[in-house]
Amino acid sequence: MRIKREKAMKNPRKFIIQKFSEYYRDNANKIPLPTSYKKREFGFILSDKGIMLRHKAFSEPRFFRDFIKLITPSDVYHSAAYYKHPSREMGKKEWIGADLIFDIDFDHISTPCTEEHEYWTCELCDQAGVGKQPSVCSQCGGSKFKMVAWLCETCLETAKSEALKLIEFLVNDFGFPPQDVEVCFSGHRGYHIHVERDEIKQLDQNARKEIVDYVQGTGLKVSLHGLMQVSRKMGQKIIGPDLNDPGWSGKIARGVYDIIVTYNLQQLKEINGINKNIASLIFSQREKILKAWNTGTPWGSIKGVGIKTWEKLVETSVVNQAVSIDTVVTIDIHRLIRMPLTLHGKTGLKVVSIPSKSLERFDPLRDAVAFNEGTLKVYILAAHRFRIGKEIYGPYERETVKLPMAAAIYLLCKRAALLTD
Ligand SMILES: [Zn+2]
Ligand SMILES: [Zn+2]
Repeated sequence: MRIKREKAMKNPRKFIIQKFSEYYRDNANKIPLPTSYKKREFGFILSDKGIMLRHKAFSEPRFFRDFIKLITPSDVYHSAAYYKHPSREMGKKEWIGADLIFDIDFDHISTPCTEEHEYWTCELCDQAGVGKQPSVCSQCGGSKFKMVAWLCETCLETAKSEALKLIEFLVNDFGFPPQDVEVCFSGHRGYHIHVERDEIKQLDQNARKEIVDYVQGTGLKVSLHGLMQVSRKMGQKIIGPDLNDPGWSGKIARGVYDIIVTYNLQQLKEINGINKNIASLIFSQREKILKAWNTGTPWGSIKGVGIKTWEKLVETSVVNQAVSIDTVVTIDIHRLIRMPLTLHGKTGLKVVSIPSKSLERFDPLRDAVAFNEGTLKVYILAAHRFRIGKEIYGPYERETVKLPMAAAIYLLCKRAALLTD
């Protein structure tokens, strides 16, 4: 059923706050407080004003739970840091240490679908639309718009595979026990990874930057990982790392192996610095290269493919094996992170803590749904397709639709819909 826009002008803010309030009334007691919570700072975004309330501290879990029931925040955070006086202003808190945290957000990862799910809202009125923002708002004449991140399955999958790569780094390269690596779906665009170990609490910003550089493969020198040309009696020979080598050496080898197995001819030709004829040669000799890998001497196994080409393959492998993380988050030793089982104000989904071994099976659009009951009729301004649970919804444009509560709240939180009377 389509209805005229004028009949559906009710602002949904109050309704969202009411639903969030019901959620916290029923679930606040299940929210786990972080370890050493008395030494952490808590922060909240106030639903009605959208402003951040910081420097809160709680001496007992029930005080924290009563507080969120009382204020119904749109978003809830705690510090990764521990302080002597967490409720004091920043300069007087007396920093004791901080957990090691990583943020993987599809905002920082380039995906081929980004342009397909562009979405804007007008900053001056409740107008919204799909695609590129207009130069002028057709409703209020304003020219200030906000680009909105749409929940996209492909983007979320990409973020998840980055998170899996990062876990491999943390467990295999750094040696953290898997049970000390906590993964959280953020409730929106990605995952947070959180390591709580005494060894890392004291690390300063520079040390954390080195960890970032390692997982991003920044400044990695290929020759230091064994790829080189050596002179032998028989002539020149290319040697390189093995698939089972530890650290980046093994990652480089496995990455090159992956390229040989999975890249088509076009993709090989597109690798920067690889000559088109050589790309064809590699493509036609794939079987031989892969066989050579089983005997340990793939590097230099094809006549006509020299060290420069292998270096280019390795560079591509490094890009593929490196993890896209938000550098700023990891090196900020005062950072606030979202709390599991609290809601995300931009989606109405909940933050979910996932054991690292279960991440592969985790489905954010099913497992993070907070509002499982009821339906709601909303007037949708515009919406790309989206999935919640098993159902796929949309695309919609200027129509009134009755939706399951979680789907309706998602659109209301995105400012993509209005309440009907
Ligand atoms: Zn407007
Ligand atoms: Zn996408």
